[in-house]
Order: sequence, then C-alpha cells, then structure tokens
Amino acid sequence: MTPDTAGNFPQRITFADAQRIVSTVAHATRLPIERIAVEQAGGRVLAEELVAGIALPSFDNSAMDGFALRACDQASDGETCLRLVGEQFAGRSLALTIAAGECTRITTGAQLPAGADSIVMKEHARVEGDQVWLQRSVAAGTHVRRAGEDVQPGDHILAAGERLTPAQASLAASLGMADLAVHRRPTVAVFTTGDELRAPGQTLAPGEIYDSNRTLLQNLLRAEGLDPVAWPILTDDPARMRALLRDAADAFDVVITCGGVSAGEKDFLPQLLSELGRIHFWKVLMRPGMPLLFGDVGKAQVLGLPGNPVSVLATFLTCGRDLLNGMQGLARPRQRLHARLTRDLRKAHDRREFLRGRLDHGDDAILRVTPHPADGSHRLLGAADSDCLLVLPEATQEWVEGDIVEVLHYA
Ligand code: AMP
Ligand code: MG
Repeated sequence: MTPDTAGNFPQRITFADAQRIVSTVAHATRLPIERIAVEQAGGRVLAEELVAGIALPSFDNSAMDGFALRACDQASDGETCLRLVGEQFAGRSLALTIAAGECTRITTGAQLPAGADSIVMKEHARVEGDQVWLQRSVAAGTHVRRAGEDVQPGDHILAAGERLTPAQASLAASLGMADLAVHRRPTVAVFTTGDELRAPGQTLAPGEIYDSNRTLLQNLLRAEGLDPVAWPILTDDPARMRALLRDAADAFDVVITCGGVSAGEKDFLPQLLSELGRIHFWKVLMRPGMPLLFGDVGKAQVLGLPGNPVSVLATFLTCGRDLLNGMQGLARPRQRLHARLTRDLRKAHDRREFLRGRLDHGDDAILRVTPHPADGSHRLLGAADSDCLLVLPEATQEWVEGDIVEVLHYA
C-alpha cells in the first residue's frame, strides 16, 4: 500500500483482509530454526516432524507392585500357591524367566519376566517364605503394559507447526529425544507514545495520564512466552520517533508501538512508517482498533496499535498474536470458541466489532457469554472485568439472548 500524492492512506480494509495480510507477511518472515533442549521446548513451535525411534512402552512391564505369574497356573477354585523364584524391580532387567507354578516379585515399571503374562497386586497376595498365596485370581494380561501399546517405532508423533504442550514435549523426551528443532522466538520492542504519558509512580501534572499500555503490552507478550523490551516513553516528536524506530527496527524482529496512528495532529507514525519502510495496511474496518497500522522497516515488522487501551487489547489479540505466532511457524489456527449470549445485543455499524465479555456456564453446562456494559475503547475496567472478546461479524446488527456468538479467549 502506498500513500497518494497528498501523503494520505485513504484505504480501509476489511478485518478479514487485514488478517490475511498479517498471515501472509508472517509466513514470508518465518523465523529461523534452532535446536533447544527438550526440557525448554514447551510453548515453542516445533519445526520438524517427530517420528518415534523406539516403542512405548519399550518392553512389557508391570502396572502394579505385586507378583508376576502365568494366569494359567491359578487354581480354578480356592487359593493359588506359587513358588517365589526371584525379584524384578524397576531398573536393569535381570532377564528372569518363570516356569509352571512359579512367580516373581515385581514393582511398577519393572520388566515382565519371560513366561509371565499377568500381575497380581501385592495387596491380594500373602508371602510365606518362598510361597506366595494369591487371594484373587486374575485374567491373563491383567496389570501388564504391553510393549508398543502406546507408540510403535516409525509412528508419526507430532507434526511441524505444533506449539508444544508440556505433554507433547514430555512425549518427545520419553522417546529419548534430547533436543528438538523449533522456530526462534521473535524479539519484540515495545514503544508507547504520547506527550501525556507518565510512568506509574510519577506525579501527574494536569492533563497527563499514566502509561497503562506499556504494562498491558508487555504482559500480553509475556503471556505468549516472549520477552519484550520496552523502550522509554516516546514523546510526540517525529524526529525522535524516527530515530528510535529506525534503531529498534535494526535490532528487533518486531516493533510494536501504541498511540499516534489516528488522524490527530500528533499522529506521526503512519507517515514515518511510509518514509522509513513500507505500509502493509493502515485502518481496518474493526471496532475498536480501526486505525491499526502494519508495515515494515528493513527486516522488522512494525505493528502500530491505536492508543486506546481496549484497542490495544483487541488489535493485539486479533492481529498481533497471529503475526507473532505465524512468524514462529504455528500451523494450526487458534481454536474457535462459541458461546450463547446472555442478553440481546445491537451494533449500529457494519465493521467487525470486538466486545469485552465474560464466559461462564449455565445450568445446562453450555458455555455462555455476558457482554460487558462498558462501551468505549478507553474503559480499561471493562477489559479487566472480562476474559474474552465477543466477535461480532460485519453483516449482523442484532442478536437476541441465546444466540451463539464466537468468542476469543484472552488467554
Ligand atoms: P492516540 O492514538 O495517541 O491519539 O491515543 C488515543 C488515546 O489513547 C488517547 O486518549 C491517549 O491518551 C490514550 N493512550 C495512548 N497511549 C496510551 C498509553 N500508553 N497508556 C494509556 N493510554 C494511552
Ligand atoms: Mg497520542
């Protein structure tokens, strides 16, 4: 997108187009791959397919502490008495074998002796010298974990593009994988802009406000597993903004600014971005967040979020998060959640709207969402009182209680 001769950016794109552009850019700027220790891999996006090299379990073993036996040796009525011929604890295999009428002591996870096919729990047996009396009989296979019942060698375990959950990372560890190929995480610089901003803890002069977006953005980014670097508050000084933006773009993968992207006299960022680099889009048919700006300077992607706190939240959750995830190679889109509205809703425009809301369950256990009554993208209390955004599509203007809407969970 390029400015017209007057330096304006007249176009407004739909939210769907904005998302498409974000995803295309993210794909084109996918971050390089690095190998990291499997213990560190939770939350990272896998960059390789994982194929099992071994079976899981890798040998037949006991699921209980007890005695390993042959099910066919049990008496058809009354107690069974077997001869205790050894002990196999979890750890190095003693390669024990049992023959007819014999059993071994065994602990959970210990290799099953050859010949054994069942385990009787120790609570159901009585030991007298080398004799073991079984108080219960078990079917063949009881409490035995079979080799390969979970995973077979050659099984495709995980696909590239998955964000590794703790269970997935530990599955890789259980297959003996010490390190995994993942995409590097983006480095992110955060700028808040505005002559009116002061850091919390300072004294406010009339007309000034505390910088809350810096805290919001840093915490949103940390929740994504990133480690943002917040630069000092930028005053509305285009020369200084230009210098710092260029510096940050040299050193970071992503630069996120907030404020200074609307149509006010002090909103310099769109013009600066077009001079220093490129604009992918400016202004999206969404509410809040309409003046959202996206472009690049050199190798850095620059996301210019509007200054109003709720706009920061909505644009970050809907576009910023997708950019950062896409750059890390995340293949799967976020799971879409839907909930039943607890009250009627109206909107008086044809943009996509993101309302703050709170999720809970009704007596029928179906997810429901209550829109927060606070309107206005400056009202942070409504955001703090909510846990999701309701996604209201462009074409619909009215909803009644019980209608199903899409919701986007903050977390
Ligand atoms: P702007 O987009 O710069 O015109 O800012 C829009 C609104 O958001 C104004 O009311 C600003 O004072 C407010 N705002 C901008 N940046 C911040 C910030 N970092 N923290 C809190 N409010 C902000
Ligand atoms: Mg401003």
